[in-house]
Amino acid sequence: MLSDATWRALQKRLGRSSFRTKFRLSEKELAYASDRGLDVLTTHARDFVTRRVAPRDPPNEGKQTPVTGHPVFVAQHATATCCRGCLVKWHKIPAGRKLTVAQINYVTDVLLRWLSDQLAAPQAKRPPPPESQPRP
Ligand SMILES: [Zn+2]
Repeated sequence: MLSDATWRALQKRLGRSSFRTKFRLSEKELAYASDRGLDVLTTHARDFVTRRVAPRDPPNEGKQTPVTGHPVFVAQHATATCCRGCLVKWHKIPAGRKLTVAQINYVTDVLLRWLSDQLAAPQAKRPPPPESQPRP
C-alpha cells in the first residue's frame, strides 16, 4: 500500500505540472467511476497497467494510453503513469525491463489514490442546497 506521505509528496510534485493538473474526469467518466466503484476500478487499473505499461517493450510506447474514454486512462496521465518514459521521469522506475509485481502494485495504488480523490472532490465542492422558502 502506498503511504499517505508518499502520495502527498507525489501529489505535490504533480501539482507543479500544469500539464498533469489539467487532467480531470469528465461527467461521464466520473459517473462511470462512481457507478463501478473502487474495487472494479482497481481491477481495471491493474489490467491496463499490466497489459499496456508493464511489458519490457510496451507496444506503442509513449502512445499506449488514450487520453479519455476510461477513468483509469485519465488517472494515468494525471499521475504520469501513462508510459515507461513517464515512469522513468516521475517515478524512477527504469525502462527496458518488465515491471515487477511490486511496481505494478505501486502504479495501481497511485491510480486509485487519484481516482478516489476525484470521486471525493465533487461532493466537497458541491454548493450548499438552496435555502428553503419560508412558508407564509
Ligand atoms: Zn507518458
